[in-house]
Amino acid sequence: MQVLVINSGSSSLKYQVRDTEAGAVLLEGLIERIGQAETALPDSGQRGAGVPDHAAALELVSAALGEIRIEAVGHRVVHGGERFSEPVLIDNEITRAIERLNPLAPLHNPANVLGIRAIAAKWPELPQVVVFDTAFHRSLPEYAWRYAIPEELYQRHGIRRYGFHGTSHEFVSRQAAEFLGIPSGDFDGVIAHLGNGASITAIKAGRSLDTSMGFTPLEGLVMGTRSGDLDPSILVFLGREGYSPEQIDTLLNRESGLLALAGNNDMRSVVEAAGRGERAAELALAVTSYRLAKYIGAYHVAVEGMKALVFTAGIGENSAEFRALVVDRLTALGIELDQAANVIRAKTARLISTEHSAIPVLVVPTDEERAIAEATASLVAAGA
Ligand code: AMP
Repeated sequence: MQVLVINSGSSSLKYQVRDTEAGAVLLEGLIERIGQAETALPDSGQRGAGVPDHAAALELVSAALGEIRIEAVGHRVVHGGERFSEPVLIDNEITRAIERLNPLAPLHNPANVLGIRAIAAKWPELPQVVVFDTAFHRSLPEYAWRYAIPEELYQRHGIRRYGFHGTSHEFVSRQAAEFLGIPSGDFDGVIAHLGNGASITAIKAGRSLDTSMGFTPLEGLVMGTRSGDLDPSILVFLGREGYSPEQIDTLLNRESGLLALAGNNDMRSVVEAAGRGERAAELALAVTSYRLAKYIGAYHVAVEGMKALVFTAGIGENSAEFRALVVDRLTALGIELDQAANVIRAKTARLISTEHSAIPVLVVPTDEERAIAEATASLVAAGA
């Protein structure tokens, strides 16, 4: 089936056309500056024409498609709340349900809905499917998703841990199980998805048991520009010092993480700077790898002994240096890195631990678009 995969952000629209039988990418692209009719182009004094809205962005996608015939559309939707534990075929009721979740993901869900409505208006006959970033984590037990705060906050505001990156964690855990030659339902392991956003998931019998992102994608690991875990009293303190909620939000989501520690949110640059002996970059790597190693230890306990540790996403797949820094902190678990295997670059699943390692360490490339395309194709085929 030829599936158009849409990742619709507030000011951008990423798309890919996948042929799910051939496993091929037929087309991909990114439309930026949506809703900014005329904006200054970065790094130049010129003014560039933006795209007025998501409908206009879709016209550009349509033009790019040329002769390619689309049979279904799959959307990445960030927040599925407590309702959605699986991908679903879209109808009006589902679209409204996603809209009702807007308060939980104010930057993302409204943009996703704009994308869904734009497609429905342009191609009303095309089946559309949504795949939720939170869905895989619906299996978390209550002791993992409850915060120790008054229940009223959960009942009235839905404040609980949801977890994100679920599509990637599920896809990678299945790929890892296949690599290890076991059924995906038997997989007990820990997946570290390390990209600009980063999260780690404890997987027990193929299901998500715990994950580091919580109510929002801010909790957990140190990320490119996000702080990850911190003492919540810091927010209260800043509020009393006169910082507004918007300023605190910007500080923690856009100005923290690697950027705050090393002055750069790109892991490549941070590794290079540390290689030149720059202390801020060395500290950034130490803080980031230490935080991750602590989570790996915790999740090893959570799953009662992981059978595999898996690295994925931009940093996890590409940064041998960062993987080595993390694994060096795991000697207490009997984990031993194969230095030669670790530096081999490849686009396929591979083992990077030695034969003596108590737990195998893998690198498994993620492919969220493929996962969304396959989920879409199978739902549409089942409904046909
Ligand atoms: P993602 O969000 O999955 O695209 O990952 C983005 C992150 O991956 C950025 O921090 C990049 O610096 C990092 N990354 C990509 N390639 C490399 C590489 N070769 N070495 C280190 N980090 C990399």
